[in-house]
Amino acid sequence: MDKILIFGHKNPDTDSICSSIIMENLVKKFNVNAKAVRLGNINKETEYVLKYLKIEAPELIEKVEEGQNVILVDHNESAQSVDGRDEAKVLAVVDHHRIADFKTIEPLYYLAKPYGCTATILFEQYKQNGIEIDKTIGTLMLSAIISDTLLLKSPTCTEKDKEAVKELENITGLKSSEYGLEMLKAGTDLSTYSSTEVINLDAKEFTADTKKFVVAQVNTADIDDVFSRREELEFAMEKEISDKKLNLFVFVITDIINTNSKIIALGSDKSIVEKAFNKKLDEFDSMMLEGVVSRKKQIAPQLLEVAK
Ligand code: MG
Ligand code: MG
Ligand code: MG
Repeated sequence: MDKILIFGHKNPDTDSICSSIIMENLVKKFNVNAKAVRLGNINKETEYVLKYLKIEAPELIEKVEEGQNVILVDHNESAQSVDGRDEAKVLAVVDHHRIADFKTIEPLYYLAKPYGCTATILFEQYKQNGIEIDKTIGTLMLSAIISDTLLLKSPTCTEKDKEAVKELENITGLKSSEYGLEMLKAGTDLSTYSSTEVINLDAKEFTADTKKFVVAQVNTADIDDVFSRREELEFAMEKEISDKKLNLFVFVITDIINTNSKIIALGSDKSIVEKAFNKKLDEFDSMMLEGVVSRKKQIAPQLLEVAK
């Protein structure tokens, strides 16, 4: 059988990359011929992790051929998946997101848990199957959990994630408050990116009814610093809106120190944002959302609810 390809979502984050590699390692223990790949560029946070471990990034792929065997991690929605996914054969999914537009022809393994991170689900799988977690796999898991839960501060973080981090700190000898903060900080450096790259670093597309929208997010230690690029960012957002025929583009600037977000909303349906958060956009098409850091829990569901 051809190699099974394992990948996370487009515009991959640390969980998508790390969980692909962790999943490859796991299925190989069962003599399954599989390979982690990725659907986009490595961001600076993930680069920090791979450099720390001195391991190569998975190979980049653009699309899959019809009938290709695949395993999805950290996503399931087709808009966020590989081009050609609906003609591929999905053997398994390990994910911690809502399930949307997912349909297969044949039975599959589908492991979904509402944890803060895909890597936490995989951590549990290693334990349940009695598979040793070495320092490299442990560091990949720890990095992914710290990234997705913003050092356990996000409302998406569960007791399972906290327990996993505790154990992974022992395995790796790393302190998440030190290693994790350095890793998160590495991801906040946007200085070398063009505005188009900034709005695409962590962009996710959603559809509700006939409405199509994108919610993009960046982490920062200084919201004003990112917001000072507002004009060029808005220009790039307008271009995405017309290129992809979007109803709405929401750009979320998340302060990882104070756990707040400022959003900028553009598009013909930007009133969705005002309804979702019961707040008016200011003259810069922006609003401050206190205590909001999670797109998955605190932004996307609220927008989808109004949009549907
Ligand atoms: Mg992700
Ligand atoms: Mg994730
Ligand atoms: Mg994320």
